[in-house]
Amino acid sequence: MSDQNLTAIYAKDLIKSYGSFRALKGIDLQVHSGEIFGFLGPNGAGKTTAIRCMLDMIRRDNGIIEIFGKDPQTESVAVRDLCGYLPGELRLDENASVKSILNYLRRLRQGGKDCSAKISQLASRLDLNLDSKIKNLSKGNKQKLGIIAAFMHKPKLLLLDEPTSGLDPLVQQIVLELVKEAKQSGATIFFSSHVLAEVQSIADRVAIIKNGEIVEVGVTSSLLSKRAWRAKIKFVSDDSGRGAMIKDLEGVTVLEVSDDNKIFDIGIEGDVDPFIKFIANFEVDYLEINKPNLEEIFLSYYGD
Ligand code: ATP
Repeated sequence: MSDQNLTAIYAKDLIKSYGSFRALKGIDLQVHSGEIFGFLGPNGAGKTTAIRCMLDMIRRDNGIIEIFGKDPQTESVAVRDLCGYLPGELRLDENASVKSILNYLRRLRQGGKDCSAKISQLASRLDLNLDSKIKNLSKGNKQKLGIIAAFMHKPKLLLLDEPTSGLDPLVQQIVLELVKEAKQSGATIFFSSHVLAEVQSIADRVAIIKNGEIVEVGVTSSLLSKRAWRAKIKFVSDDSGRGAMIKDLEGVTVLEVSDDNKIFDIGIEGDVDPFIKFIANFEVDYLEINKPNLEEIFLSYYGD
């Protein structure tokens, strides 16, 4: 049993099959209260299935799920009350207005507390007309409606299935700001994404799911620091002995070197300082050092 104050989501050996196809093969997850947790994986990896199991929108076959210590299967109303959910795909009554849909969703909640001030504030920030009919909304504007529905009651836990999907870059930024603000107000945010740059910029921790299994979990910054730096350097002079000295530097791997011994492509594990100090002894024509990004980590799992 998880600590309901410290653990927002606890999943242990979570299994879900569709017929004979096993979509989740026993996943373990622990999302701490108050963190932004990014859930990464390619199409069909099982992200939506996991999120739906967390809300018991589809029933797990086996394993444990707790949302702030509550089982979504036996305490469904209480769990849904704690959560704001943005589905990957919204299906809405086309003839209704944005306002009436939000009002309907609000009333479905226990107590159905008034959120009109928050709705107006979110609609204004996202530039969505509350009087629009659903049938007249673009894909992006429907997504904005979904975001307002998830955030409007200031839930303790936000489960967001690809929140920035279909939005233009400016609105994507606003959504990321909303996520950060929700965290500042004490909420926990669990979101799936394909957009690695956004996960890298806001997630405290990340899990990578592949074929229904979690293949990596970690603090975003530690995952990033695990990867080797990549440096490209061109020295002014050729010096045949220099290559051997570079190879001897701790953590350094020479990936490629030009025939004239001037241009080096180098991988550096860990601290870059010894490498920088070493090259300071020479006249350098060109230097490029790239900090590895989440995309490279992600691709290292999906390279095949
Ligand atoms: P995406 O990034 O494309 O949204 P995802 O990681 O959310 O993908 P899921 O939608 O959870 O992946 O799907 C996981 C696997 O389960 C996929 O192979 C998918 O085809 C399968 N699947 C999902 N829903 C059903 C269903 N209702 N019936 C049968 N198979 C399903």
